Amino acid sequence: MSGIPDQRGRPVPRDVLGPVAPAPGEPAFDDDHPPRRDLVDDCVHCGFCLPTCPTYVLWGEEMDSPRGRIHLMEQGLDGEPLSPSMVAHVDRCLGCMACVTACPSGVRYDRLIEDTRQQVERRHRRPRRERALRAAVFALFPYPRRLRLLRGPLRAYQATGLRALVRRTGLLPRLAPTLAALDALAPPIGRAARVPRRVPARGTRRARVGMLTGCVQHAFFPQVNAATARVLAAEGCEVLILPERQGCCGALSVHNGRRAEARRFARALLDVFDSAGVDFFVVNAAGCGSALKDYGELLADDPAYADRAAAFAASVRDLSELLVELGPVAPRHPLPVTVAYHDACHLAHAQGVRAQPRKLLAAVPGLAVREIADPEICCGSAGVWNVLSPEPAGQLGERKAAHVLATGADLLVTANPGCLLQIASAARRLGRRLPVAHTVEVLDASIHGRGVDELLR
Ligand code: SF4
Ligand code: SF4
Repeated sequence: MSGIPDQRGRPVPRDVLGPVAPAPGEPAFDDDHPPRRDLVDDCVHCGFCLPTCPTYVLWGEEMDSPRGRIHLMEQGLDGEPLSPSMVAHVDRCLGCMACVTACPSGVRYDRLIEDTRQQVERRHRRPRRERALRAAVFALFPYPRRLRLLRGPLRAYQATGLRALVRRTGLLPRLAPTLAALDALAPPIGRAARVPRRVPARGTRRARVGMLTGCVQHAFFPQVNAATARVLAAEGCEVLILPERQGCCGALSVHNGRRAEARRFARALLDVFDSAGVDFFVVNAAGCGSALKDYGELLADDPAYADRAAAFAASVRDLSELLVELGPVAPRHPLPVTVAYHDACHLAHAQGVRAQPRKLLAAVPGLAVREIADPEICCGSAGVWNVLSPEPAGQLGERKAAHVLATGADLLVTANPGCLLQIASAARRLGRRLPVAHTVEVLDASIHGRGVDELLR
């Protein structure tokens, strides 16, 4: 990557320089990773992707479909400026990658939107309010320690009745829709489960694995990380966690065009784990898994990290992939429960992992798995999309929750913390309580004979 020279004449990468707004009328994209023309040209405009695109489903607007967005990218490559309306259509994309699954021509929309977004973030100056909101979101969410500091105040807010009072007034959604969305999404804050640095394998060691603790997962779902470590250990894995040394993996940043930030996070995580001698690096959050598997591409032009990043990315597994790859050794106890399994977009569309979680769930004695209608359509969580765009996210959430409730299942199971929060909160708005659990919590309950009541609380 070329750039402006520093004081010693060395080129400074553009992603270190910060936003450089284009002059009025300048083409939308500069030469620092613009969306690739050859990938744009792969689109044959057939429209097969349209019915799977959540924004097209919501609004029926061509420019809010994958085909329309690719057309806008083409206009940008042809020299059109980065107009506010072009940015709005790019911003409205959830990055769910349902269009990648649906496309018969193999269009790499994932690459295209990632490159387009980083151009938008560097070259488009948003209105002040939007800038402030985004600054606050990205100063908080990718920082597990800052998120954990919120646990105390949030617990007090929930426990003292203040939350109930705020909700009774009905003012929050009208005065501050983003805060209202955060309030609706916040899970009940229980006791913080501590995750150890290392967990030994039970019985014969079959693999040594590193484990990502994540940001939202670490702060608000520590029980999912604890269950992940227990299940891996029960299946013969030594688990190296090092929670005090881990930070964000960069998923949120890279999926929102903050490439420089994502690269910083990726390098830091590599420094912790790529010399730790692990056979696999395991992830239990879909969005993080898809970003980690792309580290090779993210750091391809960094001579100090490119090879390490590619090797590390090849070792990354979603938890369900690894458990199926290893095969079960821990006996399962019966769990008489009917679950609806929700495909998290970044697991199903971005990583192609659909069969493994179903296989693991179906192998639990007494457990029945029901499928949800329109599984390819996103629930509206999409990283922080539900915080930045609360209204359409709420509509998608309610649509998904209604489909889940229609299955008649006792429990919703999925593999992403954002989806769990989003669908449970949408079900509450529909006047229903929907117990939710991560796939690994179900496996943990079965392996350790804990019974189903704990999952249905
Ligand atoms: S990633 Fe999702 S929201 Fe974006 S264009 Fe594709 S299907 Fe639509
Ligand atoms: S992205 Fe694929 S499915 Fe969608 S219009 Fe283009 S070629 Fe067709």
